[in-house]
Order: sequence, then C-alpha cells, then structure tokens
Amino acid sequence: MKIFAIGRNYKEHAHELGNEVPEEPVIFLKPETAVIRNNGDFYYPDFSKDIHYEVEILLLVSKEGKNIEKKFAHLYYDSIGVGIDFTARDLQQKLKSKGLPWEISKAFNGSAPVSSFLPKEQFVDLKNIDFHLSIDNTIKQKGNTQLLIFDFDYIISYLSKFFTLKKGDIIFTGTPSGVGPIQIGNVLEAFIGEQKMLHVEIK
Ligand code: MG
Repeated sequence: MKIFAIGRNYKEHAHELGNEVPEEPVIFLKPETAVIRNNGDFYYPDFSKDIHYEVEILLLVSKEGKNIEKKFAHLYYDSIGVGIDFTARDLQQKLKSKGLPWEISKAFNGSAPVSSFLPKEQFVDLKNIDFHLSIDNTIKQKGNTQLLIFDFDYIISYLSKFFTLKKGDIIFTGTPSGVGPIQIGNVLEAFIGEQKMLHVEIK
C-alpha cells in the first residue's frame, strides 16, 4: 500500500506557513513504514527539534483505478478516517529554501499515525465533516471538509492521472490551520465529529 498526502488544501493553513493557495493539488507520498496503527506511540526522532502535528481527514481507497473521471471518483473510496501528518518543520523549511524535495521531513518512520476507518455511508454529507485535534485535552486544530480547496472526488481523479490507485492506499487530504509543535509526553487525540478516533502518545 502507499500513502498520498495533499499539501496546502486549506486556505488558512497555506497562509499560516506563508505559502500561496495552489492552483493544482500539492502532492507528496509517504512509505508504508511511516504508518502507525492501533493507537501506537510516536517516538520523537533525534534529527529534528521541531516536529509539528497536522490533523487530516483520510480516505481509504477501495478499488484499483487510474485516469478516473471526477464523476466516478466516489466509487473508488469507501471509508473515512483521521490521521496526523507529522512534519519535521525545521528540516522542511531548510529543504524548501533550497528548492529541494521534502521527503525526509514528511515521510520518516512513524510520520503517519492513522485511525480505524468508518464507512462513508455513515456520513450525512462528506462535504461537511467536522474534525479536530486535541493535545493534553486542549483543542489545537479544528477543521471542516467544506473548507477543502480540492474536494475528495477531485483529489481521487487528480491522483489517478499519475498513480494507479490500489485498494488499501490511504490519502491524507490536507490540514486546516493551527499546526504547531509537539513535545515528548504529549497525548494527541483526533476526533471526527465528537467521536474519538485516534490516540497517540509522544515518547
Ligand atoms: Mg499535511
């Protein structure tokens, strides 16, 4: 399986990092070794002093496909989850300033904790999903999918022009504003609506 992630997909977040709002989705990938499942712990790596949380809604790809038209995109994902796109912001800023690829700041071991998934039929409206992240019981980030610049169907269609989507692939759809640093000892909890979906302790 592979993990896709969309950068700068919420206007307020693009602005908070001093980036322009993109005209096409900003795409990067994480390897399978980035995934943390079953509420496993995250171990703060020694190559960064500024790891940031980014809470994001996830799509689970349910069927293989490529060159998928937007009108058929909904047939290729069947479940929704929530995850954290951990980012070594200090490394990322250094790489960005040199115009170099971000990989080591975004795709490192454990950089993608993911929740279990809920069938999309459980949602009244996929374009109106509330989600949030709390750290040590204080809410740090709140988002709603109605604020996505590129919606789920557009993302599926766009990705599938370049990559064959396969069943089990996971898509991180972008983070709302409010990103910030984590510290060893923090407990991160991610929610869809009021339902707690993900628990990550920083060790
Ligand atoms: Mg992100």
